[in-house]
Amino acid sequence: MRDYRMFYIDGAWVEPEGTETQDLVNPANEKISGRIALGSAGDVDKAVAAARRAFPAWSRSTREERLALLRRIKAEFEARQGDLAAAITEEMGAPASLAGGFHTFLGLGHLDAAITALESYTFEEKLGDTLVVQEPIGVCGLITPWNWPINQVTVKVFPALATGCTVVLKPPQLAAYSAQILAEILDAAGVPAGVFNMVQGKGSVIGTALSTHPDVDMISFTGSESVGVQIQKDAADTVKRVCLELGGKSPYIVLDDASTMERVASAVSSMMMNSGQTCSAGSRLLVPAARFEEAKALAAKTAEAVAVGDPSGNVAMGPVVSKEQFDTVQSYIAQGIAEGAELIAGGPGRPEGLEVGFYVKPTVFVSDNSTAIAREEIFGPVLVMIPYEGIEDAIAIANDTDFGLAAYVDGEDIAACRAIARRIRAGAIYLNGGFDFAAPFGGYKRSGNGREWGAHGFAEYLETKSILGHG
Ligand code: NAD
Repeated sequence: MRDYRMFYIDGAWVEPEGTETQDLVNPANEKISGRIALGSAGDVDKAVAAARRAFPAWSRSTREERLALLRRIKAEFEARQGDLAAAITEEMGAPASLAGGFHTFLGLGHLDAAITALESYTFEEKLGDTLVVQEPIGVCGLITPWNWPINQVTVKVFPALATGCTVVLKPPQLAAYSAQILAEILDAAGVPAGVFNMVQGKGSVIGTALSTHPDVDMISFTGSESVGVQIQKDAADTVKRVCLELGGKSPYIVLDDASTMERVASAVSSMMMNSGQTCSAGSRLLVPAARFEEAKALAAKTAEAVAVGDPSGNVAMGPVVSKEQFDTVQSYIAQGIAEGAELIAGGPGRPEGLEVGFYVKPTVFVSDNSTAIAREEIFGPVLVMIPYEGIEDAIAIANDTDFGLAAYVDGEDIAACRAIARRIRAGAIYLNGGFDFAAPFGGYKRSGNGREWGAHGFAEYLETKSILGHG
């Protein structure tokens, strides 16, 4: 049992103001795995005041001082990777190989990217007689989701610290453990008092207190569209900057020039990774109509072969995060069937032999782009295959969505892939599995307005000052 009932405020572990707590459930076995304290607006006031006090000194720290801190954090992070991975498996059900692999790899990758960006970042530029200076925006409220928990926290905390901001982190209740360990890492690395603070609790309490707080200068939020909209409204009265990283319904286009449809298998496997709980998942698989039967057979075979089970074992897919998420995914599967979509793998209910735990069958539907399962973010292991007739049709279907977070294009003709990438309205287009920690990541349309990752991610935390007549 984990007992995490203290908050990290002003360089120390402190008791919360109130006594409200929440038991957390391990999604793999539905047993209580630990307890956190639920903070209050008073706890947020204390954390914001500490961050405000720390801001003058930290905002004037040198690049070398901030680099030294990030390098000390890196040493501590590397030493605690195993603890982080175990926490991620326990809190949100990622298989041990994924939690100790891609989950922690992403956290470390964002730390390295922040260090590399800070080493050469241009904070000042001369425009004739004017000096244009990039300065830290101030106290930042960082609100994160549970799905890639360490990725989401590190992609905010490290750029904020690198640019000289001070922060109050509000992690999700469903992924409180890994955030707690990250706070221990920062503490062990000697983060100056008040520069990093963390308060656990409900979004409606802690998140709202941050969004409305007059002493918070910006909010960086990753999560659902509805909460993103609420945060913008809550933040409006104090005119603070709000950076939103929201959901997606990303297209995965397989071109017809490949000798086999093997990329269909990769698309299915990557959809099922993390139980489909990935904002940028390629959840609409667009395949040439002429090769659809071949692709369908391969997709069904791949989905049925995904090993689902206890995430502490050697499996490819664990449970989804919670009972609520399980119910949501099940209702989408039922809706897909009711809408007349063709079910070719998986379907309702738990996989055979997994009666306890929030396990979902890796599910593949065939549909057109008009059904709810093709238009709404399901956030579970449910893929929709859609046939297309030629490139123009593929691009039209790809763009026929409210979202614009990511897109995938796989094909042997790289010139064709590049041309398609230019025409898709989304923030990150991955050609043939491309990946880059320095590439900005964020959404068009209802997927949000922010850009994170690497040097581009620094901009969210910086204000621009012009000093005219500087000479
Ligand atoms: P969520 O919106 O329910 O919660 C996200 C965070 O917001 C949590 O910490 C929650 O406690 C907090 N919150 C809830 N109500 C709040 C309020 N009124 N004010 C302030 N904060 C509040 O999202 P989730 O279920 O944790 O995460 C899944 C969603 O996140 C999906 O839509 C997914 O696509 C999205 N996501 C986006 C990205 C991206 O980079 N674009 C990355 C990962 C996840």
